[in-house]
Amino acid sequence: MRRTHMAGELRPAHAGQRVTLAGWVHRSRDHGGVIFVDLRDRAGIVQVVFHPQTSEEAFRIAETLRAEDVVYVTGTVQMRPPEMVNPKLATGEVEVFAEAVEVLNRSRTPPFVIRDEVAAGEELRLKYRYLDLRRPRMQRNLHLRHRTVKFIRDWLDARGFWEIETPILIKSTPEGARDFLVPSRLQPGKFYALPQSPQQLKQLLMVAGIDRYFQIARCFRDEDLRGDRQPEFTQLDMEMAFVDEEDVIGVNEALMVDLVRAVVPHKRIQQVPFPRLSYAEALERYGSDKPDLRFGLELVDLGHVWHQTDFRVFRAVLAEGGQVKGIRAPGLARYSRKQIDELEKLVRQWGAHGLAWVKVQEGGELQGSVARFLADGARAAFLEATQAEPGDLVLMVAGEGALVADVLGRLRLELGDRLGLRDPDVLAFAWIVDFPLFEWNEDEGRWDAMHHPFTSPKDEDLERLETDPGQVRAKAYDLVANGWELAGGSIRIHRRDVQQKVFELLNISPERAQERFGHMLEAFEYGAPPHGGIAWGLDRVVMVFADEPNIREVIAFPKTASGVDLMTGAPSEVDPEQLAELYIRVVLPEEEKATSEP
Ligand code: ASP
Repeated sequence: MRRTHMAGELRPAHAGQRVTLAGWVHRSRDHGGVIFVDLRDRAGIVQVVFHPQTSEEAFRIAETLRAEDVVYVTGTVQMRPPEMVNPKLATGEVEVFAEAVEVLNRSRTPPFVIRDEVAAGEELRLKYRYLDLRRPRMQRNLHLRHRTVKFIRDWLDARGFWEIETPILIKSTPEGARDFLVPSRLQPGKFYALPQSPQQLKQLLMVAGIDRYFQIARCFRDEDLRGDRQPEFTQLDMEMAFVDEEDVIGVNEALMVDLVRAVVPHKRIQQVPFPRLSYAEALERYGSDKPDLRFGLELVDLGHVWHQTDFRVFRAVLAEGGQVKGIRAPGLARYSRKQIDELEKLVRQWGAHGLAWVKVQEGGELQGSVARFLADGARAAFLEATQAEPGDLVLMVAGEGALVADVLGRLRLELGDRLGLRDPDVLAFAWIVDFPLFEWNEDEGRWDAMHHPFTSPKDEDLERLETDPGQVRAKAYDLVANGWELAGGSIRIHRRDVQQKVFELLNISPERAQERFGHMLEAFEYGAPPHGGIAWGLDRVVMVFADEPNIREVIAFPKTASGVDLMTGAPSEVDPEQLAELYIRVVLPEEEKATSEP
């Protein structure tokens, strides 16, 4: 290698050494008679000094250098005079006196400056992703991702897990989303699906006696991309034979704790062993099945309080079987009317009819939109239930149970942000357990699998499959942290009769079950061991580790919310011949035709 050192690695220990560096011109400053060039490579930035006395020729070339030109520089490392030390740079105690420079390629003026505090919009960043990825922050993220995956691989290998690749072209796997389809040329009129996850294949690997499997697996789901989703994403996928819920939870908790200590040691895990919450309890106390447990601000049920009052609005909600719940926001009695209106606007956006509020004033007097209804017993019950103290603000929402939970769950996070309770250096992991097996689908009038159709019911709930499906709990578990779902999995059904029963409940006819899942049902008849597993949303785990606001920041080449790759222009039209070979004709809806025809 012609390069002897990485620019970002140079330290006082290198002083006096002659080095050859390779990288990009980060910045160049002409101080009349001497030129300073910040040279950047993957390891960081170092200052290079061009003096005509050191080399006239190098100096002349340096005069022509522009941002993002790519160069070789040869020179000698020297200590900077004490007053010139730059404490903001890891290399800030040294500089390189250039003796020679070779320009390998010139750069056009980039569409945005390659700096962490880049002001460019995301569209521009994605279009020029190769420039965006030159930014130190993005390189740190990709490096963190690499170290995370590497650690996981080594850790699982040491515990007897085998990494096995499963196909990308498969028969569709139901995970609740739409499949991406791939037409088959060799089997006209037939299609492969891209895997929504390797779910069935990893279960079949357990039937095959593999015992412990994992894969860093790419998954594809053709969903409408709400906020933080990508049509393709990465899972750490895992499956184990002869295990129960505790075994899978145990392995994953140990892996997560070790991983955090190895790759983000500056982060503190709030509680080990990770606390566990039932699904019902999580919704009741935090209004979410992925609660942020870094702070309290729990939801309190105030139904019994409002029962005692003559506030008709709330009483009507309660009479219809709805709920009135509230959150105590400590110290926020200082909020102005305008600030409370802002919160009300938010909860209305989330679907609530309104936001009721009560301030506890210094003298203990209650004030606010519904304070006048809280007299005598109701007042005492209100203070007892909310534990509100002078200076606190209590915010309340009424309505149907699921809506109240959702709205207050979001409001809780908003308050957590405003009160500075969401410390980025803390990871509050928790396991959510005791999920219902089924979820009633109002629109379709049928049961859906809450996790997926292969999840096992709890043994003690098996009889209820016939009588009361809504009450059947699943052997399922989710790992959450800081308000994110990081992983989810379950113990699987491994008996044909139980699997068939569940398909029936899901409204999948025996014929259709045979047609879609015949291979699974058949496999269960050849000595399928009990098994279970989990999958981590790897992008999300790295996002949380990196303190990034969305997963696009930890994916090298992500797509936009409308599924477009702005850099390459995918998806795009293809040649008519390509379609003909696949026996495919494109039939656009009328509106699209109007806009896409020349
Ligand atoms: N296949 C499941 C998912 O993608 C995870 C699992 O059950 O292991 O969510």
